[in-house]
Amino acid sequence: MSTAGFNSQNGTGTGQTYTNGPSQNPVALQQPSGVGYSVNHQPAYNQMQAKVLAPPGPALYPSGPYQPVPPGPQVGSYPPAPAQPLLPRPQIGILPSHTPPQSASPSPGPRPAQATPPAQATPPPPAVTSTSYYTGPPAWQYAAPRGPAPNHVNPAAAAPPLMSHSSAQPPGPGAPPTSIHGFTQPGSAPPPMNPLPPHTYQPNRPAYGPPPTMKPTAPPAGPPGTTGTPPPPKADDVAGNGPQAPNSYNHVDNRMAGAAPPGPPGRHLGHYPSLPPGYQNTSAPPPSSLHPALQAATQPYTQGPQPYQQQPGGPGPGPGAGPAQLSPSMAAMSLQSSTPEALRVVNLLQERNLLPPAPVPAPTPCLTQDLQKLNCSPEVFRCTLTSIPQTQSVLNKAKLPLGLLLHPFKDLSQLPVVTSSTIVRCRSCRTYINPFVSFLDQRRWKCNLCYRVNDVPEEFMYNPVSRSYGEPHKRPEVQNATIEFIAPSEYMLRPPQPAVYLFVLDVSHNAVETGYLSVFCQSLLDNISALPGDSRTKVGFITFDSTIHFYNLQEGLSQPQMLIVSDIEDIFLPTPDSLLVNLNECKELVQDLLKSLPNLFEKTMETQSALGSALQAAFKLLSPTGGRMSVFQTQLPNLGVGALQSREDPNQRASAKDVQHLSPATDFYKKLALDCSGQQVAVDLFLLSAQYCDLATLGCISRYSAGSVYYYPSYHHQHNPAQVERFQRDLKRYLTRKIGFEAVMRIRCTKGLSIHTFHGNFFVRSTDLLSLPNVNPDAGFAVQMSIEENLDDMQVVSFQAALLYTSSKGERRIRVHTMCLPVVSSLSDVFAGADVQAITGLLACMAVDRSVTSSLSDARDAMTNAAIDSLSSYRQSALTIQQPGLLAPACLRLFPLYILALLKQKAFRTGTSTRLDERVFAMYQLKYQPLAFAMLMIHPALYRLDDLSDEGALNIGERTIPQPRVLQLSVEKLSREGAFLLDAGLVMYLWIGRNCHQNFLSQVLGVSSYAAVPEKLYLLPELDTAESQRTRAFVSWLRDQRPFFPSLHIIRDESQLKPHFLQNMIEDRTESALSYYEFLLHLQQQISK
Ligand SMILES: [Zn+2]
Repeated sequence: MSTAGFNSQNGTGTGQTYTNGPSQNPVALQQPSGVGYSVNHQPAYNQMQAKVLAPPGPALYPSGPYQPVPPGPQVGSYPPAPAQPLLPRPQIGILPSHTPPQSASPSPGPRPAQATPPAQATPPPPAVTSTSYYTGPPAWQYAAPRGPAPNHVNPAAAAPPLMSHSSAQPPGPGAPPTSIHGFTQPGSAPPPMNPLPPHTYQPNRPAYGPPPTMKPTAPPAGPPGTTGTPPPPKADDVAGNGPQAPNSYNHVDNRMAGAAPPGPPGRHLGHYPSLPPGYQNTSAPPPSSLHPALQAATQPYTQGPQPYQQQPGGPGPGPGAGPAQLSPSMAAMSLQSSTPEALRVVNLLQERNLLPPAPVPAPTPCLTQDLQKLNCSPEVFRCTLTSIPQTQSVLNKAKLPLGLLLHPFKDLSQLPVVTSSTIVRCRSCRTYINPFVSFLDQRRWKCNLCYRVNDVPEEFMYNPVSRSYGEPHKRPEVQNATIEFIAPSEYMLRPPQPAVYLFVLDVSHNAVETGYLSVFCQSLLDNISALPGDSRTKVGFITFDSTIHFYNLQEGLSQPQMLIVSDIEDIFLPTPDSLLVNLNECKELVQDLLKSLPNLFEKTMETQSALGSALQAAFKLLSPTGGRMSVFQTQLPNLGVGALQSREDPNQRASAKDVQHLSPATDFYKKLALDCSGQQVAVDLFLLSAQYCDLATLGCISRYSAGSVYYYPSYHHQHNPAQVERFQRDLKRYLTRKIGFEAVMRIRCTKGLSIHTFHGNFFVRSTDLLSLPNVNPDAGFAVQMSIEENLDDMQVVSFQAALLYTSSKGERRIRVHTMCLPVVSSLSDVFAGADVQAITGLLACMAVDRSVTSSLSDARDAMTNAAIDSLSSYRQSALTIQQPGLLAPACLRLFPLYILALLKQKAFRTGTSTRLDERVFAMYQLKYQPLAFAMLMIHPALYRLDDLSDEGALNIGERTIPQPRVLQLSVEKLSREGAFLLDAGLVMYLWIGRNCHQNFLSQVLGVSSYAAVPEKLYLLPELDTAESQRTRAFVSWLRDQRPFFPSLHIIRDESQLKPHFLQNMIEDRTESALSYYEFLLHLQQQISK
């Protein structure tokens, strides 16, 4: 049997002590006010000239950190001043009046003096926490049950002053805030943009007029999530929170929602909200199109359409009948009777066509209908096992990982928003009241996580929906598994921060050469009014090469003023008060700057990159407020702090041996990220480069600050138009998507279960509290769980994720998701509830950690062993009748295929040439993408496009979207007469066969023959033919359903990109990897050992 499992799932970090605060720049702190530097004013100020700063004094700066830089050399490297200089005025008098700023200077502005003076109050995160991974007992399914999961944080050390108040455990109504010294009373805070949005009710308010409607968006029958229902007004936007900009992803959701026919709950992944009719009507699938295995898989979902949200006062369960009143004992059902098909035995060696024709749906937990229809959408909350084992020993036997996958800030087309002065929470464990609590009577409710009996507050007795009294179980909080609260003042430590955006731009020769700068500037110009925010929104810009350039955008200036700091060793802010400016007041200056920037550096010959210093400067600038730092980098930083050296040996890219350098070369970026996290700053990294940039090191800046990483390998404005388009589309989404600031997320689960080992981008602030300086709607998270105490008496358990954040409009909000799952005692029931995609997603996260902490080969072995062990256990312990073959329950029939896909995925593959940065990026993606998108990276979708028809098509608004069947990833499925689209998430290939039908060539590609298909083609031409419209409709529909923009490569059979296309044919054999059938034989051999 296998030996290498995921037994040591320790964090990836080295656990070194991290010290927070400004100690990295002690010089800045020592500098006496007013004498730190002065400015060499140039009467005729040359815009390209460094704003030279005189040395402050030899004693303090023996090395002359602020050495004046002779204008000569610098000017020489730049183009002569244009006729219209950017910076005509030297701004005499501004600079000397400022003390070199430092984060320790409490800004007199937005932040109350006591609310975390950055220098001292940022608590040093605990020593070990720097990994953000659990360092306690590591095992998941293989280890014996262990004691309560030790936090990798000393609780005493893990209660930073700031977070302890703004966290998801604010003092509740019954527990007055213990410290609100930093909080300014609501009156002084910016008023909510929309104090009484239509979706909001305020129980304290005297009723007048028509009853306040909780949900004007009456939830029609439809599946959970965003599909199957007509597009309602976006609740969160109506409530004044969403970005004002059209959110393309939301719109997509809405469009989908308008057209998709209602389907069973739980069947719609984020990127496939609608399925072809043949699959939706699972009760009567076309006999020929459905494999028996598929029919088996669809059986559990045949309970028919159900409303995601209960109609308050509608035909929901009446008093006494609602799930909220169900005692847990009524909640369970016989698993065997409801999901026999999930356990149907499949001999994988005999059944070849296991893929369903449409994307694999999430399994539906085996709960009573009453409970399930209230349950959280699987798009938001999924568990690897939809039936929770009663004991750790049953879990150990199943050899399947137990964990949760979350997409907590997903764009939702329906989101109930509640304003209430009293947010009802358990007095003991602080769980938010939710649909799965039980009411003992009208005055008492029992917590579903810790079982404490709580009083129902008087205010909660009034149901604003029905305007009746005495129906607490009909309150929206008890009718919606996903709900958002507008938080009262005790959930704030300080007034909610404004939206602050700082852009840090590489302007070295290499950067300018790629042409990214003009694309960025144009994109920001186009979207500047759509940046989420309000009248307080601030922006700022820093550019850098071997020096750091600031831009004074203060109101009243006639033009932006560039300030160059050439001492990168002790970085300081030249005019701290005018570098981050109010966007509304200074929009013209900002626009001027964006128009000038690309030209400004057009002819630079500066090749060096002082990224580390630029990040330090940006951190100082953002520290007083927090905010979002967007960093654009095009090369390996090679100057000053954080300078790196290439670690990649191109000759080793195709090695079958272990891959080196997956962990950071320096902890500089991680430490800075933790500093940022402490000051509510998240760093998003856009890496555009043809060269190795050491993403394994640079990525830490985003990973630990809860940022995002975007990677555009070989970006070039002329040579790589597909990347340029991707970059443009991604930027638009990035700039306009919803954003939450100063966020924390806490995940709770029913007593007996224990959460450990988080995956994603964040910093673990204490046991179960994730610090998210920013949260964005495209971020996914995963956690592993263990069973600490037997769940003997329980029929169901619950999980609750609470995300506390500040909206871009300055409202403090709490989004709460609650999921309920049944508890089972038998091993077969555990197998019956297995969610193969969630399992695969979680294993991928664990394997990334293993690759970094141990080795890639170890991670690969562990993944293979996961399949061997679970199928072996199934055979030995769950099968009643032994038979030959490689046997799997129907619900796990795709498990070996997905594991093989992971082994061939860019992140984990060996023997195939893989750039180190691309591998590391794939690893980041697997940990950070919501499951639906990660699955596309793992197991791409293949479709035949030359015979698209409207049969079974979706009708969305005016559009008709063909729904071709998903094909197995094998060249067997390709044909020279056809054209096939491979959708691998971030990239799509449309492969044209040599004998492709003439009709497709002319009607879709607009060429007369195969030979006329251009060598490089990235766009489908817009032809006025039915075939062209169908094809484009399908491709754009696929693209619309994800928040990032996949490139499209249209390739002929002899294209250079063909190997990339073929690498995705996972079921086929390659020189370095087994075919699917060979892999199955390998598994069988191991299992029968
Ligand atoms: Zn509780």
